[in-house]
Amino acid sequence: MTITTPDVAQRRELKTPVPGPRSQELAARRAAVVAGGVSSTLPVYAARAAGGIIEDVDGNTLIDLGSGIAVTTVGNANPRVVANVQQQVADITHTCFMVTPYEGYVAVAEKLAELTPGDHAKKSALFNSGAEAVENAVKIARYATGRQAIVAVDHAYHGRTNLTMALTAKAMPYKKGFGPFASDIYRVPTSYPFRDPDGMTGEEAAQRAITMAEKAVGADQIAAFLIEPIQGEGGFIAPAPGFLGAIAEWCSANGIVFIADEVQSGFARTGNWFAVDHEGVVPDLVTTAKGIAGGLPLAAVTGRAEIMDSVHPGGLGGTYGGNPVACAAALGSIASMEQDGLLDRARHIEDVATAKLREIAAKTPAIGDIRGRGAMLAVEIVKPGTKEPDAALTAAVAKRCHEQGVVILTCGTFGNVIRLLPPLVISDDLLLEGLGVLGDAFAELA
Ligand SMILES: *Cc1c(COP(=O)(O)O)cnc(C)c1O
Repeated sequence: MTITTPDVAQRRELKTPVPGPRSQELAARRAAVVAGGVSSTLPVYAARAAGGIIEDVDGNTLIDLGSGIAVTTVGNANPRVVANVQQQVADITHTCFMVTPYEGYVAVAEKLAELTPGDHAKKSALFNSGAEAVENAVKIARYATGRQAIVAVDHAYHGRTNLTMALTAKAMPYKKGFGPFASDIYRVPTSYPFRDPDGMTGEEAAQRAITMAEKAVGADQIAAFLIEPIQGEGGFIAPAPGFLGAIAEWCSANGIVFIADEVQSGFARTGNWFAVDHEGVVPDLVTTAKGIAGGLPLAAVTGRAEIMDSVHPGGLGGTYGGNPVACAAALGSIASMEQDGLLDRARHIEDVATAKLREIAAKTPAIGDIRGRGAMLAVEIVKPGTKEPDAALTAAVAKRCHEQGVVILTCGTFGNVIRLLPPLVISDDLLLEGLGVLGDAFAELA
């Protein structure tokens, strides 16, 4: 079988204004038939992508600093993913694991048991999306504990289904008008070093959260404490050291299931397999999706065997969950992370990008904070000399980058964070060129 991976020149080149004529044509067709509630960050339509470049339908080549929101960690059309998918789709497209099972699902669960934190016995169930994984983690935690309350934190993002909307903190655009929401969800403050009182330690922030959970709910009523170890949509907020460990310890002392939502931060993104690994914290359940399968829809809940196995046979599943083609993609994607040195690459990207961001920040008083780990980095933008969020400047800087052919994303409760999620296979040159465009945008607009 011939393997086709796009041979996309690794350079930024704008042949037309962005968006070009073909993209504009597609935008007009889209406007007639695609629901307005579905929006896109950039107005260009993608044709091919590989390495650190996305090529659009007008032949413009853009530097990719977003990886389709932390999904194509191993690069678009990664050769190992392409080879596995082409073989698998020709052999078996779908049987449904709940009807006639197949090896790929089992092999992915074996990798998850091996790679997720902790050396206890682990089991997994596979699903299609991050939201579905979070929903199932909550189902499992409730079943295992016989309790109902779920504690989530502020700035949290866990998805857009009904239960995960309830778990997500931000109303616009995720929740407004979509209620009523699922009940028995309680929100407590997280650790947000840039915005917490000066000098607040991770342990103190954990105590603040624990006190609120105990007063508002009662530890013996709580099934699970759910948290992103580094928050994604909420603003790439990395809690102060010690925060996650203190929460995990309190959970374990009180029979509460500690769920780490690693959908965005997991799978090599932060320079470890999982973001909790940086803190030596071992969650009871871990949810994964995004980077797991190189772009195909796959998600998982992995956790302590006794918690996972508490559910009755038939209690978990779904028609497509752990689809064979998605599993084959995951095995290719994980092989690339393991064999192509991508965890080291993520750490290297952190070094290169952080140095460049510090250089930009030294000339830009509007940059209030630089944070993150590995290839999950962000700058928070404020009115100079204050901590007042500047969402307008953030949007303007991002737009300028897009016009210059750099795909860059924003996030944050206050819409004032620029986040970097490059594919780990991006070259240093492209990464630095993209950040140079960001620096120029700040110089012109800030
Ligand atoms: C994206 C995301 C989700 C939701 O995943 P979908 O695949 O979009 O359903 C859940 N949790 C976190 C932390 C995420 O970043």
